Amino acid sequence: MKNAAVITYGCQMNVNESAKIKKILQNMGYNITDDISEADAVFLNTCTVREGAATQIYGKLGELKWIKEERGTIIGVTGCFAQEQGDALAKKFPMIDIVMGNQNIGKIPSAIEKIETGDLKHVIYVGDEDELPPRLDADFDSKKVASIPIGYGCNNFCTYCIVPYVRGRERSVPLLQIVDEVRVFVEKGYKEIMLLGQNVNSYGNDLDTDDNFAKLLTEICKIDGEFIVRFISPHPKDFADDVIDVIAKEEKIAKAIHLPLQSGSTRILKAMNRKYTQDEYIALAEKIKVRVPGVALTADIIVGFPGETEEDFLETLKVVEKIGFESAYMFMYSIRKGTVAATMDGQIDEKIKKERIYRLIELQNKKSKESSLKYEGNIEKVLVEGPSKKNDDVLTGRTSTNKIVLFEGDKDLEGTFVDIKINECKTWSLYGEIVGQ
Ligand code: SF4
Repeated sequence: MKNAAVITYGCQMNVNESAKIKKILQNMGYNITDDISEADAVFLNTCTVREGAATQIYGKLGELKWIKEERGTIIGVTGCFAQEQGDALAKKFPMIDIVMGNQNIGKIPSAIEKIETGDLKHVIYVGDEDELPPRLDADFDSKKVASIPIGYGCNNFCTYCIVPYVRGRERSVPLLQIVDEVRVFVEKGYKEIMLLGQNVNSYGNDLDTDDNFAKLLTEICKIDGEFIVRFISPHPKDFADDVIDVIAKEEKIAKAIHLPLQSGSTRILKAMNRKYTQDEYIALAEKIKVRVPGVALTADIIVGFPGETEEDFLETLKVVEKIGFESAYMFMYSIRKGTVAATMDGQIDEKIKKERIYRLIELQNKKSKESSLKYEGNIEKVLVEGPSKKNDDVLTGRTSTNKIVLFEGDKDLEGTFVDIKINECKTWSLYGEIVGQ
């Protein structure tokens, strides 16, 4: 049997596309392996969001050179970096057999065939980034958690972000197609469905129907079965009241909302082209907290954006203090060539960025600990994910708010929902006991 390895970089969308690539390769008779040394085909599913992406991918290609020489392994590069580079990538690295954009992964079988038969030396498929990718089956690492892209591309052009240039304009997947796909996954036994998009709550804006994100969530929740729906990422400027109402009403929708903040300073938000102010962001977060009791808010925050002063940074700390995010992904701004921010005046010294991020992390850790303590004594419905990585005798699962819970129980409970009484709360995980199934 032939072996294939798929190496994934970047976001959840790439994780989803890698699951599809794995399924395509399995259907071709490949066994999926993590051991590159025994692979007959290796696909690098790449990301291009960060400036260092190229160095990382070139380094990995260097590592793969010997198996190409020793085994004749087929080397494929897919994802945003492949889409962006096109045939320049194969010219730079003649060892690459296949270069494929995100929309073209359905053509992997014919590309491999062309390489194997010697019809072509390189196969380059980097189609129009504005196409909607074909619907493909997927092989997810977890047999309980499936993800589904509901839209591709982005219209927002935040000044630090390359995504709109490489993933094209927003294209929504038709509503019935998504609902049908969720139904199939639920029937297969998946218990958590993650809806993916660069800007999920502008879903439907490009369709000729009145379908929107609230309607999509409502229709998904009508599907029979016990499952939970999560989504990433919404944009604060598009967070409509009807979406908040559906989240509040539907038990199947996770009470966890990722609400990227990026900066707490209205001046910097304007420079980022985020299209909301500090006041608007705070008002939205407070409204969600009132209408969805117990909701967990999380955020992405960038420090050291060009022109960020100490006063601007203090505004970010102020918002973090006020909202009390359960957790946050915190980054130091880094230049990404091809974006507007890369050429802005006022790039911030690395030392200042580091000093600011330490202060932000310190505050956020304090807030995370405070939000964790709120769970003490609660009975939480938890989806059991399986034995904990550190201790095989302990099970791990997540609450609707996405908090990790550890507890003792039978391994057969994997993939079921159990009620857990929370007895101890640490910053990143909760500890409890099963009180109901
Ligand atoms: S919303 Fe902004 S940060 Fe998100 S993908 Fe679009 S441009 Fe990038």
